[in-house]
Amino acid sequence: MHRTPFVAGNWKMNSSKASAVELARAVARGAPGSGIDVGVAPPFVYLDAVGQVIAGSKILLGAQDVYFEKSGAFTGEVCAEMLKDLGAKFVLTGHSERRHVLGEPPNLIARKARAAYDGGLIVVHCVGEKVEERDANKTFPIVEAQIEELGADMQDVQRIVIAYEPVWAIGTGRNATDAQAEEVHAYIRQLVARRWNKDFADRVRIIYGGSMKPENAKGLMQQPDVDGGLIGGASLKPDSFLAIVNAAL
Ligand code: PEP
Repeated sequence: MHRTPFVAGNWKMNSSKASAVELARAVARGAPGSGIDVGVAPPFVYLDAVGQVIAGSKILLGAQDVYFEKSGAFTGEVCAEMLKDLGAKFVLTGHSERRHVLGEPPNLIARKARAAYDGGLIVVHCVGEKVEERDANKTFPIVEAQIEELGADMQDVQRIVIAYEPVWAIGTGRNATDAQAEEVHAYIRQLVARRWNKDFADRVRIIYGGSMKPENAKGLMQQPDVDGGLIGGASLKPDSFLAIVNAAL
C-alpha cells in the first residue's frame, strides 16, 4: 500500500518573526513539489507571517496546539476556526511536551483532537511512552490508551496522522532504533485496524518523531510502517530539515 510520506517541522517556542519567515522561505524554496506532504508548525504568533511566505507553495501550515471551544471567554486560547482563518491545515495534539511539561490530561487532549478534526484540520496526534514505561514493558498499553483519545468516527484518513514519539527520544539526541520504531508503528497499525478498520489502517500515515536527523532519517523512514517524521530540533535549520524531507522520498 503506497502512502504519501508526511514530514513536519515542530518549531516549538523558537525563532523570531524574522527568522521564522526566513526559515519558511528556505523550506518552501527547497522542498519537493510533489510526492510528499511537508509541513511547518511555527509558534502561534508567527502563523500569519509564515502563512504568507508559504502561500502558493505546497508547504502545509500547522499549529502546535488548539483549544476545543469555538469562541468565548478562554483567555490566551486559540480555536480551530482562528487557525484555519490564517491558513493552517494541521495541528499537533497530544505532544509529549503538552502532556508531560504542561500537564494536559487525556480528556483535554481528546477534546482538542475532536475540535481540530470537526473543524476540518488534519490532526497530527502524538503518542509515546516515557523511558520508565518502556522499561516496565508498558509501551503498548500506553500507546493504545493514547490512540483511544481519537474517535473511531474520525473516518477521513487523510486528516488523521499518528506520530509515534517515544518521550525518551524527544530532544535528547537519542533516537529509537529502526527496529524499535518499526515494532511500535506496526503495533499501532494493528490497533488502528481494530479501532477503525483494515482499509483505514492500510492508508493512515504513522510518522516517527524523536531526535530524527539527516543521519538517521533514511533508516527510520525505510521501515515498512514508518511513513514520515515529526521533527523538532532538526527542523530549525533548512538544510537539515530538507535533508530529512528528501530522505522520505
Ligand atoms: C518533537 O518535538 O516532536 C520532536 C520530535 O523533537 P526532536 O526532533 O527535537 O526530538
